[in-house]
Parts: sequence; C-alpha cells; structure tokens
Amino acid sequence: MNTRRDFLRQSGAVAGVSVIADAAFAQAVRHPAAPTAAQTKDWYDRPMRWMQLAFVEDDPGQYDPKFWLDYFRRCHADAACISAGGCVAFYPTKVPFHYRSKFLADHDPFGEMLKGCRDQGMNVIARTDPHAMHQDMADAHPEWIAVQADGAPRRHWADPTLWVTCALGGYNFNFMTDVTIEIVKNYKVDGIFSNRWSGSGMCYCRSCQALFRDYSGGHDLPRTTNPLDPVRRQYVLWRENRLFDLWRLWDTEIRKINPDAAFLANSGGGALSDLDMVSIGNLAPTLFADRQARHGVMPPWSNGKNAKEYAATLGNKAIAGITSVGVEEAYRWKDSVQSGDEIRLWLADGVAHNLRPWVVKFNAKPIDKRWLPVVEKFYGWHYRSQKYLRNEKSLAEVAIVYSQQTAAYYGGDQATAKVENHALGYYQALVEARVPFDMVHDQLLDAEHVDRYRVLILPNIAALSDRQCQKLVDYVARGGSLVATHETSLYDEWGQRRKDFGLAGLFGVSYDGKVDAQVHNSYLNIEKDPRDGSYHALVRGLENATRIINGVNWVHVKPTTAQRYSPLTLVPQYPDLPMEEVYTTSVHTDTPGVFVRESGEGRVVYFPFDIDRTFWEVLSNDHGTVMNNAVAWAFNGSQPLTVTGRGMVDVSLWAQKGSVTAHLVNLTNPMTMKGPVRELVLSPPQKIRVRIPKGKSVKDVKFLVNPTLPKSTVANGVVEVDVPPFELNEAVAIDWA
Ligand SMILES: [Zn+2]
Repeated sequence: MNTRRDFLRQSGAVAGVSVIADAAFAQAVRHPAAPTAAQTKDWYDRPMRWMQLAFVEDDPGQYDPKFWLDYFRRCHADAACISAGGCVAFYPTKVPFHYRSKFLADHDPFGEMLKGCRDQGMNVIARTDPHAMHQDMADAHPEWIAVQADGAPRRHWADPTLWVTCALGGYNFNFMTDVTIEIVKNYKVDGIFSNRWSGSGMCYCRSCQALFRDYSGGHDLPRTTNPLDPVRRQYVLWRENRLFDLWRLWDTEIRKINPDAAFLANSGGGALSDLDMVSIGNLAPTLFADRQARHGVMPPWSNGKNAKEYAATLGNKAIAGITSVGVEEAYRWKDSVQSGDEIRLWLADGVAHNLRPWVVKFNAKPIDKRWLPVVEKFYGWHYRSQKYLRNEKSLAEVAIVYSQQTAAYYGGDQATAKVENHALGYYQALVEARVPFDMVHDQLLDAEHVDRYRVLILPNIAALSDRQCQKLVDYVARGGSLVATHETSLYDEWGQRRKDFGLAGLFGVSYDGKVDAQVHNSYLNIEKDPRDGSYHALVRGLENATRIINGVNWVHVKPTTAQRYSPLTLVPQYPDLPMEEVYTTSVHTDTPGVFVRESGEGRVVYFPFDIDRTFWEVLSNDHGTVMNNAVAWAFNGSQPLTVTGRGMVDVSLWAQKGSVTAHLVNLTNPMTMKGPVRELVLSPPQKIRVRIPKGKSVKDVKFLVNPTLPKSTVANGVVEVDVPPFELNEAVAIDWA
C-alpha cells in the first residue's frame, strides 16, 4: 500500500514545476510592512473574529493567498493565526535542522499571508507545532526523540516517517526557542501560538530521567498512573513545573524582541485538563479554547462550557473558541467539511457565552467549499452585532465549581466517570431550566471570585483542602448558598479519604463509613412535612409521584443536626429479577435522600447520592426537576434573566458598556445530544424578563437577529420582551439610560 509519503515523493517533481508565483506579491513579502495600528500594546482584547490557516506541506506555491485574504476581508476577520514552523517550516528558516517544506523553494507562504493580513489591519500570530521531527534531525539529535516506557525511541503514531519529540528537554528548550526567536525577529508577529507543545504522553528519555531524579530526590520516573502513588504525584508536579518554565522561557524571549507580543499556548480546559488553569489564567494575556467541534455524545452547549471553564481563571481577558470546519471524530478526517448548520450551531453557542469565534482550515487548498458561505454569513452577523458582543461581565448569579485536583487525584484514570459526568449532569439540568450560570475554579473560592454568585454548585467536588473547605464555609457565612452532591469534600486535595466530610458542618451530616456503588432498582419516596402536610420546594412538581428513581452510587451518612424531615427518603435496593420477586417490604425508611438546611444567611442542599451523574447517564426528568428545584430553593429569589417558552434553549446574560445582551441559542433539535444536526428546527416563541439595574431605565430594546422591532414592556423593575420563533439564535440587546 502506498503511504502518503510515497505519494508525496512520487509527485514532488511535478509539484516543483506547477508552482505558481506572483512575482510582485513575492517581492512585497520580502519587505514586510511596518507595524500597523493593530499591533499595539495589549492588542489582545482587540480581535473579535479570528481565522486560522493551518498549512500542509504542499501548500507553498500551490495555494492561493489572494483567495484567503479576500475571504478574510469578506468575513470581517480582524486576526489570523498562520502556520510558521516547528515540524515543518513555511518560511525560509536558517535554524539548523528546522525542516523546510520540500515545496518551499523560494516561497514564503507564512510571510505572504502575514503581509496580506497586516495590510488588511489584522493582528497575526504564528503557529508552531513542535511535537514531531524528521529523520535528519533524529540522526543528528537522537536525544531529542521521546522514549517509550520500554526504552525504545518513539515513532510518530500517525506518520511513521516522523519521530515524536520530547517536550521537556533540549528540543523544546533549545531548538524551538531558536525557532521562536527567528520567527519573532523576522516577522515581528503579535504572538506565537504553539500547538501540541506540551508533549504526547510520558517520555522516558535520559534527559527526563535525569531531570526527574534531580527533582524528586533520586526517584525513577513512575511506571504507574495511580494518582495516590507518591512518585506519580511528584511526576505530575514536575512535568507541570517544567512546562510552565518552558512557557515563561518562550514568553520572555518573545517579549525581548517584541514587547507587544506573547507566547500563546494551546492549553487549557476544564476539570480534565492537565495544566493548572489558575497559573494559565495568570500567564496568558489571551487564550484560545481548542475544542473544535462535537464528537460522540456531546450537546452543542459544550462550546459554551469551554467558554465558562476558561473564563473562570482568565476573567475579562479575551478568549477565542477554535472551531473546525471538519468532522472531529476519532478517525480524524482532517480534510473534511461538516454540515453548515452544525458549524454555525457550535459557533453560536460559543458566542452566546463570550467566545470570540475562530475558524480553522487545515490545508490551504480547499476541496469541499460548502463551509465558506456559512462562516462568512455568521461572521457578518457577528460583525454587525459587535457593539453588543464586546462583553464586560457575565450577569449570572449561579456557578458550577470545577476541580482539576479532584479529576487528577480522586478521579485518576476514571476522572470522566467519577468527576466530569457529575458536572455534565448538572450543566444539562441548568440548561434545561434556562438558568444563566458561570463556572468557577476550585482554587478561586475567595470573596472576589464567588461573592457575585448567590449559589455555588459542587458536583461531586470530592477533593478539597481544609483551606478550600473553610472558604466555602466563609462564603455561606456571608450569605452564599451551596448545592453539593455525593462525595464532595470527602477527600483532601491529594485524593486521600478523610475521616469525615470537610464540609460536614455545612451539610449537617457525617460520613458513616460506607459507599454503595452500582445500586440497582432503588427509589426515593417523596415526603410531606409531617407538621402541616405540605411539600418542600425541593420536590415541587413531583407531588403526585409518590416516589422517584434513586441514583446509582450512595454515600452512607449520619445526620448531625436535627432535621425535621427530609423531602426525599430512601427505598433500598430490592430484586429486579425474577419478576415475581420485584417487590419490597421496606417501602419506607427514615434514611434521608437529601439534606436541606439554612445556615445563617445561606442555604445548603446536600445529596448523598450521585443525582447529577445519574442524570447525565439516564436523563430522568424527575432528577432534573429535583436538581433545579434545589438550585431555585438555594437561590431564594428571581434570576437576573428568565426565559419562558417551550423547547431547549441555552441562555446567557452579558453586560457591555451601557447595555446588556440576553442570548438564546436554539437547541431544540432531534440531534441535540449527538450531532451533527441535520437541519435547524425553528424554536417556539419565548418570553424573556431581564432585571433592570438600580438607577437605570430602558432606553432601547432591539433584536440582533430578527429584523423586526421587539415588543417590550417594563413593570416592577423588569423589562419583558416577546421573542418570536428563531432558527439558530436570538440576542436581545437592551440599552440603559
Ligand atoms: Zn524526555
């Protein structure tokens, strides 16, 4: 079978003569334009719409730069990311062993795109990819090749003519530093965006071995992924330190040459991401969420979730959401194009949650061009609506906490099942309830970061330090409310089980020494208040249910404070086969299924079971009802934005200078939970209510999508707007006087 490399070898000679050169253009490239107004200090917040062209090796001389520059202009793109170097250089590099595209000849595709973009007033950053090297470098610098656990040098998994590089040694620290310096010196780019810069899994090379021994006091690199292994823990910390050292090195070298530029790592994410998001939030002047499209079971709100996870530690810094036009599945059809509606749904949900759109195309010689008008139209809308998309702050008053340490040290290899699926369950429930909400990082639980929220949700945030627990206690003492599930605070920050919950006092329970896993056929009775026969707000809507299904994992707890009654009580597991035995004599117990307390000014709801994780797995609407009732009870007031109507709508509320924008993204679609969507289905009409801030009045209300004028009314400090059916999204912009 011919490999792609064979094909390239065979066709190389032909490509050499088919090069199309525009002499004037090439001439201009050799004399890059002087810096433009776009390249100012703190330019990072300026770009609203990004475009990325990720070159492939045979693009030089064969792609049409004018086509792309014209397209960028029509899209009103104001920043671009263009491939420059690393694995393949797309400019005439002089760094030894920096592999030049074999199609480069006397071309400089990076330089010509940079010049063209600058002439259009765009910011330009250079993309590098240091994760793979060619044979000539491997021969000269075998010490730069990553080494497998068995001691063998590591071939590239997708292209066996290449070698995987070690991210933590001389290749990145020396060679890629030289490449970075060369690019910034020659082109004065606004930043270097490095892809796959942090390694491709564990490396056992001599350099890594020596550096780790030095750091760890003589230990060999661990052979286990068990997060409770003390050497493994040291490895995780060493690797992270080493990568942040690399980040600072590149950033320092870049700023020495161009103080208005920075290293912009392709890094970051939620609980499952590996580098500390708080450090990233401090280091990065702007960041790009590289979650390019849906795959597997994934709702479109996942793009909004990216935005919220990044914003938790980046605050007001600009965050772009990288969107691929291609199908993003395990089989990596990188040259593909997905359906237009799927692309714009992903983009719209990101924008609703304050991501600046960024579209990437791999291969500058587009084959399937169906995506081009779709992105152009969406970017055009974004450009026209820009005034109401330059957000200053989220007005959400509810937040879900996420915890990288819980994923790393409590979740380990099962972090998706034990940690992330809890968060996804609560996320889905809040989207269904149209509650505007943010996400909060568990290392930022101080007043400055959490006091703007009335409710914090802790979806099985199992691993919390004493200090973090104290911050949550203080938050509740200041009037904040908590909703927590399952093993929240039952482990310390290193994933070691505590004797009791760190938040035992707030929950009003203590740990009773046992956790049941994989419980089948268990239920929860809906209980009335024995004093007056009323139902608690927690079970509103379930008054006629008598009982609902239980979760699957259950922590045994003992109440430590007097509780009049629990709105939910346990019906223990009983046989589910044979059918004749499917009954229980234990129809009623006193075992609470939820603990509901008022603590000073705050309110606390604690579920000892995995209601959120079970919701994500089975999506029982009863669980969703209870979870959202818990948030509503804890919130104890009216939300800054309410959206009523049928269907599934992802909502948000953002403040700009002198205005607010309420976003509604239409998720009512048979392909909501697993894409791609086949078509967008018109959303039913909605009614929104937005709280008017004290001292303000409504000056103007407009739709950013629908061309008609909204019908709005003002009463009792609230502006109410009828939103007619919409296809993809609607945004209601309200100017204050
Ligand atoms: Zn190594």
